[in-house]
Amino acid sequence: MRWSLSPSPPRRKITVKSRLESERPVRSRYAGSLPPYFKSPEQLLLELGVSEPSDILIEAIAQHCGATILYESLEGSEARLLGYGARALITVNKNAGVPRQRFSAAHELGHWMWDRGKMAFSCAEQQFHGEWSKDNPERRANRYAEELLLPRSLFLREARSLPLSLASVKSLAHRFQTSLSATAIRLVELSDSLALLVCSEQGRRRWFVRSGSVPWGYRVKNLVVPGSRIEEAPGSFWLEPREGTTVRLPETILVDPFRIAPNLVLTLLTWVQPPVLN
Ligand SMILES: [Zn+2]
Repeated sequence: MRWSLSPSPPRRKITVKSRLESERPVRSRYAGSLPPYFKSPEQLLLELGVSEPSDILIEAIAQHCGATILYESLEGSEARLLGYGARALITVNKNAGVPRQRFSAAHELGHWMWDRGKMAFSCAEQQFHGEWSKDNPERRANRYAEELLLPRSLFLREARSLPLSLASVKSLAHRFQTSLSATAIRLVELSDSLALLVCSEQGRRRWFVRSGSVPWGYRVKNLVVPGSRIEEAPGSFWLEPREGTTVRLPETILVDPFRIAPNLVLTLLTWVQPPVLN
């Protein structure tokens, strides 16, 4: 089957109003039996009076939590965490770019909050790219970093007038000094539009995340063809219904791919037409 190429694909505005109105209070997302030292990203940013993306100074935030960040050459990992009592040392690879360094440090701070008292951590880039769907300590640390560096209210304020596209992801990543993958995940998950973000490695799906509007019954196929430019494609090229569900695949979706590493491609999928539920 062939599909039509669209030189000027339709663009949708990100709608954020309902998200802002449903903002949850600090710590509520972390409800449960938390240790006394635990502070959510929202709580930290509130305590430090952060009101602009440029205020998110990871060294100062870490110091506020008893952790000192050092920059050194590291082999085989991007960041390490060594804790003793209420103090910690976070070592970040000084040869990485600034967005990667910031994410690495915030990821280790996530371990410091969630995993204090356990063994030391040494985390590689693979954990930052690969751990977004399975529930494990790496994903928790990634989520902590994402919420710290891309705070919901600030991010929505900046994203409000932008179209839902990877071009917008680049612009926001520059504004917040964050990685493209973390920024893209944040943009999709906070968007009210119908969107999925897929990370694939040599045509094989690694993980995907969805906006809240996308029904659970849609799943990204294991084998995908990201392509190299924005184009429209049949929904069946990328999506399949989960077993036992009756969602109808969209006839056409917009495919917006971007390479983030030699073997890794991020692809933003957006609906050209709203989904039809049986
Ligand atoms: Zn880690």
